[in-house]
Amino acid sequence: MSKLVVSPKIKLAVKNGGPTRVRVGGHVIGGEELVVMAGPCSVESREQLLDVAQAVKAAGGHILRGGAYKPRTLPYSFQGLGEEGLKILDEARRLTGMPIVTEVMAPEDVELVEGYADILQIGSRNMQNYSLLKRVGRAEKPILLKRGMSATIEEWLGCAEYVLSEGNHQVILCERGIRTYETITRNTLDISAVPIIKQISDLPVVVDPSHGTGVRSLVSPMAKAGVVAGADGLLVEVHCHPEKALSDGDQSLHPEEFRCMVKELEPIAAAVGKRL
Ligand code: PEP
Ligand code: MN
Repeated sequence: MSKLVVSPKIKLAVKNGGPTRVRVGGHVIGGEELVVMAGPCSVESREQLLDVAQAVKAAGGHILRGGAYKPRTLPYSFQGLGEEGLKILDEARRLTGMPIVTEVMAPEDVELVEGYADILQIGSRNMQNYSLLKRVGRAEKPILLKRGMSATIEEWLGCAEYVLSEGNHQVILCERGIRTYETITRNTLDISAVPIIKQISDLPVVVDPSHGTGVRSLVSPMAKAGVVAGADGLLVEVHCHPEKALSDGDQSLHPEEFRCMVKELEPIAAAVGKRL
C-alpha cells in the first residue's frame, strides 16, 4: 500500500491530537468555515486601502490582507509604506471590523508588526529564514506560513516545526505555487499539497490562487479547485484599480470579480462540508 511519508524527526507539524483550529476575530481557520482573506498586494495609500477594504467586506471577505513590508525582486520597486502602512491597516480594521493579515520580513520588525496585525504572514522568500521563524514562534499572534517557491512539502513542514517548537501552535500553512518548468503562469499552484497536508498534518491550510497563477483570469477557477481539494481558506489579491497597482496588479481581482467569485464559491464550499 502506498503511503505519504515525511521524516520522523518532524514531531509537531505532523498529525498529533486532532485538527488545529486557529481563532482570529470571530473566525475559526481549520474548522467548518471557509475563511476568505482578501485585499491588495500592498498598502499604497489610505484612500486605496480603505476603498478596497470596504469592497472586500461588502463582497463577503472575512479577513483583510495588505503588505506594509514588501519583499520585491528588485530594490528599485515599491518597498511598502512600513509603519505608516500598518497604521492604515489598523484604521481599516476599525472601520470594517475585519482582522488584518500582513507580512513581517525581519526578526527586528516582529514586535512592531505584532502590535498591529491579527495574523503575521511569513512570505515565500522567507520560509526558510530560521531566525525569523524562531522569533515569530515566540509571538502571540497566529502565523500564516507561505510555502517557499522551491520548497518541498517536507521542508515546509520543517519550517512550521520551527514556529511550533518555540511554543506558537497557531500556524496556518499557505500553498502559493511553486517554480516549475512552466512559464505561462507565474507559478504552478500545487493543489495536491492541500490533501497531502490534510493527510499528514493537523495544521490548517489555505490556498493563494493569486501568486499561485499570476494571472487574474485564473484566480477564481483555482480558488474553486483549492476549496474542492479541502482548503480551510483562501488568500486573494483584490484592488479597486489593478492597472494602477504598485505591485501584482496583473493578478489582482476587481472588487466585482471578487464578489462573483465569493458568490460562486458558496455551493462549492457547501458540497465539501464547509460554509462561507
Ligand atoms: C504577497 O502575499 O503579496 C507575497 C509577497 O506573497 P509570496 O510571499 O507568496 O510571494
Ligand atoms: Mn503580492
